[in-house]
Amino acid sequence: MNTCPCGSNKDFGSCCQPLINKEQQAQTPEQLMRSRYSAFATEHYQYILDTYLGKDKQDANKEALAEDYDGIQWLKLTVESTEMDAANSNHGFVTFSAYFGMKGKLFVLQERSAFEKMDGSWFYLADVSESSNTRLKLSRNDICFCGSEKKFKKCCEHRLN
Ligand SMILES: [Zn+2]
Ligand SMILES: [Zn+2]
Repeated sequence: MNTCPCGSNKDFGSCCQPLINKEQQAQTPEQLMRSRYSAFATEHYQYILDTYLGKDKQDANKEALAEDYDGIQWLKLTVESTEMDAANSNHGFVTFSAYFGMKGKLFVLQERSAFEKMDGSWFYLADVSESSNTRLKLSRNDICFCGSEKKFKKCCEHRLN
Protein backbone atom coordinates (compact mmCIF):
# COMPACT_ATOMS: atom_id res chain seq x y z
CA MET A 1 0.00 0.00 0.00
CA ASN A 2 1.15 3.46 -0.92
CA THR A 3 -0.16 5.52 2.00
CA CYS A 4 -1.73 8.83 1.03
CA PRO A 5 0.39 11.84 2.02
CA CYS A 6 -2.68 13.56 3.50
CA GLY A 7 -2.60 11.39 6.61
CA SER A 8 -5.91 9.62 6.05
CA ASN A 9 -4.26 6.18 6.46
CA LYS A 10 -5.85 5.21 3.16
CA ASP A 11 -4.12 4.16 0.00
CA PHE A 12 -3.12 7.09 -2.21
CA GLY A 13 -4.96 5.43 -5.10
CA SER A 14 -8.26 5.45 -3.25
CA CYS A 15 -7.80 8.78 -1.46
CA CYS A 16 -6.28 11.90 -3.04
CA GLN A 17 -4.85 10.47 -6.27
CA PRO A 18 -8.19 10.18 -8.15
CA LEU A 19 -8.84 13.84 -7.32
CA ILE A 20 -5.39 14.94 -8.45
CA ASN A 21 -5.87 12.91 -11.66
CA LYS A 22 -9.32 14.53 -12.08
CA GLU A 23 -11.11 11.20 -12.11
CA GLN A 24 -13.14 12.35 -9.10
CA GLN A 25 -14.19 15.65 -7.60
CA ALA A 26 -13.77 16.79 -4.03
CA GLN A 27 -17.13 16.68 -2.27
CA THR A 28 -16.11 18.90 0.65
CA PRO A 29 -13.61 21.69 1.40
CA GLU A 30 -11.66 19.22 3.56
CA GLN A 31 -11.32 16.75 0.69
CA LEU A 32 -10.07 19.48 -1.59
CA MET A 33 -7.65 20.74 1.05
CA ARG A 34 -6.27 17.25 1.61
CA SER A 35 -5.87 16.64 -2.11
CA ARG A 36 -4.02 19.95 -2.52
CA TYR A 37 -1.64 18.99 0.28
CA SER A 38 -1.06 15.61 -1.40
CA ALA A 39 -0.50 17.39 -4.71
CA PHE A 40 2.21 19.52 -3.08
CA ALA A 41 3.74 16.39 -1.54
CA THR A 42 3.79 14.61 -4.90
CA GLU A 43 4.69 17.74 -6.91
CA HIS A 44 1.52 17.90 -9.00
CA TYR A 45 1.62 21.67 -9.30
CA GLN A 46 -0.87 21.89 -12.15
CA TYR A 47 -3.53 20.61 -9.76
CA ILE A 48 -2.58 23.31 -7.26
CA LEU A 49 -3.22 25.93 -9.92
CA ASP A 50 -6.39 24.30 -11.25
CA THR A 51 -7.98 24.23 -7.80
CA TYR A 52 -7.05 27.81 -6.91
CA LEU A 53 -9.41 30.74 -7.30
CA GLY A 54 -7.36 33.48 -5.65
CA LYS A 55 -7.01 36.93 -7.11
CA ASP A 56 -3.34 36.52 -8.02
CA LYS A 57 -4.00 33.32 -9.96
CA GLN A 58 -3.16 34.81 -13.33
CA ASP A 59 0.39 35.51 -12.12
CA ALA A 60 0.92 31.95 -10.92
CA ASN A 61 2.47 29.24 -13.01
CA LYS A 62 3.61 25.69 -12.55
CA GLU A 63 7.31 26.41 -13.01
CA ALA A 64 7.28 29.20 -10.40
CA LEU A 65 5.48 26.95 -7.94
CA ALA A 66 7.95 24.13 -8.53
CA GLU A 67 10.79 26.57 -7.89
CA ASP A 68 9.17 28.04 -4.76
CA TYR A 69 8.62 24.62 -3.23
CA ASP A 70 11.85 23.02 -4.39
CA GLY A 71 13.69 21.47 -1.43
CA ILE A 72 10.63 21.30 0.83
CA GLN A 73 9.66 17.93 2.23
CA TRP A 74 5.99 17.73 3.24
CA LEU A 75 5.96 15.53 6.32
CA LYS A 76 2.52 15.51 7.86
CA LEU A 77 -0.91 17.08 7.63
CA THR A 78 -3.28 17.48 10.56
CA VAL A 79 -6.76 18.82 9.85
CA GLU A 80 -7.81 20.61 13.05
CA SER A 81 -11.35 21.57 12.08
CA THR A 82 -13.63 22.14 9.16
CA GLU A 83 -16.80 24.24 8.98
CA MET A 84 -19.36 25.22 6.42
CA ASP A 85 -20.55 28.81 6.21
CA ALA A 86 -24.02 28.69 7.83
CA ALA A 87 -25.29 31.39 5.47
CA ASN A 88 -23.82 30.03 2.25
CA SER A 89 -23.42 26.35 1.46
CA ASN A 90 -20.89 27.22 -1.26
CA HIS A 91 -18.43 28.51 1.33
CA GLY A 92 -16.38 26.52 3.77
CA PHE A 93 -13.29 26.70 5.95
CA VAL A 94 -10.56 24.28 6.97
CA THR A 95 -8.03 24.84 9.74
CA PHE A 96 -4.92 22.71 9.47
CA SER A 97 -1.30 22.24 10.44
CA ALA A 98 1.15 21.17 7.76
CA TYR A 99 4.59 20.00 8.89
CA PHE A 100 7.49 20.37 6.52
CA GLY A 101 11.24 20.20 6.39
CA MET A 102 13.45 22.77 4.72
CA LYS A 103 17.25 22.80 4.74
CA GLY A 104 17.32 20.23 7.52
CA LYS A 105 15.00 22.20 9.80
CA LEU A 106 11.47 21.38 10.81
CA PHE A 107 8.58 23.84 10.44
CA VAL A 108 4.84 23.88 10.89
CA LEU A 109 2.44 26.01 8.86
CA GLN A 110 -0.84 26.69 10.64
CA GLU A 111 -3.57 28.13 8.49
CA ARG A 112 -7.31 28.64 8.25
CA SER A 113 -8.26 28.48 4.59
CA ALA A 114 -11.42 29.55 2.82
CA PHE A 115 -12.93 27.50 0.02
CA GLU A 116 -15.62 28.25 -2.52
CA LYS A 117 -17.78 26.01 -4.67
CA MET A 118 -18.25 27.15 -8.24
CA ASP A 119 -20.12 25.24 -10.95
CA GLY A 120 -20.15 22.17 -8.70
CA SER A 121 -16.41 22.15 -7.91
CA TRP A 122 -14.59 23.25 -4.79
CA PHE A 123 -11.69 25.70 -5.05
CA TYR A 124 -9.16 27.12 -2.62
CA LEU A 125 -9.85 30.82 -2.24
CA ALA A 126 -7.55 32.29 0.38
CA ASP A 127 -5.71 32.03 3.63
CA VAL A 128 -8.01 33.82 6.08
CA SER A 129 -5.73 33.50 9.09
CA GLU A 130 -2.52 35.36 9.64
CA SER A 131 -0.75 32.14 8.84
CA SER A 132 2.87 31.76 9.66
CA ASN A 133 5.59 29.19 9.53
CA THR A 134 6.91 28.31 12.95
CA ARG A 135 10.18 26.54 13.43
CA LEU A 136 9.82 23.45 15.61
CA LYS A 137 12.88 22.75 17.64
CA LEU A 138 13.06 19.08 18.45
CA SER A 139 16.10 17.44 19.87
CA ARG A 140 16.96 14.00 18.56
CA ASN A 141 15.71 12.25 21.69
CA ASP A 142 12.37 14.07 21.79
CA ILE A 143 9.19 12.25 20.83
CA CYS A 144 8.54 12.79 17.13
CA PHE A 145 5.99 15.43 16.09
CA CYS A 146 4.26 12.96 13.76
CA GLY A 147 2.40 11.07 16.47
CA SER A 148 4.35 7.81 16.15
CA GLU A 149 5.51 7.98 19.81
CA LYS A 150 9.00 7.11 18.62
CA LYS A 151 12.04 9.27 19.19
CA PHE A 152 12.58 11.91 16.55
CA LYS A 153 15.99 10.46 15.62
CA LYS A 154 14.40 7.03 15.01
CA CYS A 155 11.46 8.43 13.10
CA CYS A 156 11.11 11.50 10.88
CA GLU A 157 14.55 13.06 11.33
CA HIS A 158 15.90 11.14 8.34
CA ARG A 159 13.18 12.67 6.17
CA LEU A 160 14.72 16.13 6.56
CA ASN A 161 17.56 17.06 4.30
ZN1 LIG B 1 -5.47 11.65 0.84
ZN1 LIG C 1 7.88 10.84 13.01
